[in-house]
Amino acid sequence: MSAASLNPVSAADVEHFAGIGIAVERLDGRAEEPYNVDALKRYMGSVDVVLLPESTEQVSQILSYCHERRIGVVVQGGNTGTAGGALGRHDEVLLSLRRMNAVRDVDAVAGVLVADAGCVLEDLDAHVRQLGFIVPLDLGSRRQCMIGGNVSTSAGGLRYLRYGSMHGNVLGVEAVLPDGRVLDALSVLKKDASGYDIKQLFIGAEGTLGVVTAVSIALAPRPASSRVAVLGLGDFDKIHRAFVLARQHLGEIVSAFEFWERRCNELTVEFCGHPDLLARPHAFYVMVETRGSVARHDAEKMEAFIAALRDADLVDESRELSDPDGMDAAWLFRSDMARAHMLSGCMYVYDFSLPPRHQYALLDATKNRLRSMAMYGGPDDPVKDVTIFGHIGDDNIHLQVIARQYGGPVEAAVEPWIYTWVGSHGGSVAAEHGLGAHKGPFLKYAKSPAVIETMKSLKRLLDPRGIMGPGKHVAIA
Ligand SMILES: Cc1cc2nc3c(=O)[nH]c(=O)nc-3n(C[C@H](O)[C@H](O)[C@H](O)COP(=O)(O)OP(=O)(O)OC[C@H]3O[C@@H](n4cnc5c(N)ncnc54)[C@H](O)[C@@H]3O)c2cc1C
Repeated sequence: MSAASLNPVSAADVEHFAGIGIAVERLDGRAEEPYNVDALKRYMGSVDVVLLPESTEQVSQILSYCHERRIGVVVQGGNTGTAGGALGRHDEVLLSLRRMNAVRDVDAVAGVLVADAGCVLEDLDAHVRQLGFIVPLDLGSRRQCMIGGNVSTSAGGLRYLRYGSMHGNVLGVEAVLPDGRVLDALSVLKKDASGYDIKQLFIGAEGTLGVVTAVSIALAPRPASSRVAVLGLGDFDKIHRAFVLARQHLGEIVSAFEFWERRCNELTVEFCGHPDLLARPHAFYVMVETRGSVARHDAEKMEAFIAALRDADLVDESRELSDPDGMDAAWLFRSDMARAHMLSGCMYVYDFSLPPRHQYALLDATKNRLRSMAMYGGPDDPVKDVTIFGHIGDDNIHLQVIARQYGGPVEAAVEPWIYTWVGSHGGSVAAEHGLGAHKGPFLKYAKSPAVIETMKSLKRLLDPRGIMGPGKHVAIA
């Protein structure tokens, strides 16, 4: 069941796929984007054969053949994942969903979208906006990532605080199992207590249990009124206190509560060329968004919130935005933060959930460790920056270590130490980016042996030959 027990793809296999009408691209192992290079340029793939099916039936034909022949399969959506899960590292076929991109149905009464897995998130959002809805998920990678990839990584994103998780919003999936059987669990029902909820298995499975070919998702109404406030704060503790006040004053209309620290701000200005959102530099920044239905009420609530922040001496500067261009610019600034880090050097991005009381300590602990190893703090040290930003309302902290080059002593200094630190402080080693190519072995620091063994049992049950995503996720040896 290991990658070693799988067969390489032969010329006869390629001929077979072409012969049954499946589009094939050959790379000869070239580091070609998007197939063999990831968004961060951290992971490189080495696949030769890319298959581009156009229908669920073609996906089924591919998997049934690969199962029979014991050929490894790696599934790729928009290839924006940060964990290397969408790249082939052995002699697998790469199955790209990019040609399966039709909207199958929108029920405007129920507010339910049914779409092929290869639909790009931004295109889906544009499609349903005309009908008065939004897709309840938004990521900085929205122009490339695909809904099947979003489901498969259990993506979180910028408005998780308001709209919740993929586990709540996805109503059904159609998936092709590793042996080629089509599993039709494409329900459009919001309530269903009739047995095990099978679709949940595919949310966060990262292509290891089959291929998600279509998704049905509950849409959210397009908000009639929206506002943004950008805040400058002097210390991290004030972010948590401001969040408590946001819940009290903004209640059901708060839709995002994002934070970043000064260095993230500087990198975004420097590498993406965006103007600063506030007049003065601050140690920390918060961006609060409200989405409601009556602009006047929402404005009153936001004003009361800002006044409460000032009374409690929590903010040093604030700026309210309600014009669409201003709000778009603020969101672009926030969304481009990951890109700015990517442009500034070789980015190791860590995506953790942590209880509030340990969130800032993670940054301090990481910097201290790297300093003590003479890797950070000096002008020519191998680590240029260590930063945090993220979705504070979801307890989801992104920690970036920006190195001068990938691999070597920096990686060895940070991993697995950082996963042990997070596990011992009650965190999750992957809040929203998944396990991918190399986080599987670190799961043991944060999940019990019984949980990991149950995951492996499910993998063995659905993919007994281990053809899907070989060596990834909770790989079975
Ligand atoms: C600039 C930037 C910002 C980002 N911001 C966020 C953020 O705020 N929140 C967040 O959660 N993520 C974020 N991400 C990470 C990434 O965009 C998400 O993980 C996204 O959901 C991946 O979708 P994709 O289509 O690109 O999947 P891919 O990268 O192609 O694949 C990811 C994994 O899912 C599997 N997979 C893909 N499609 C399928 C399918 N149809 N069936 C079965 N398996 C499949 C792949 O095998 C792989 O293991 C960001 C990434 C970038 C580059």
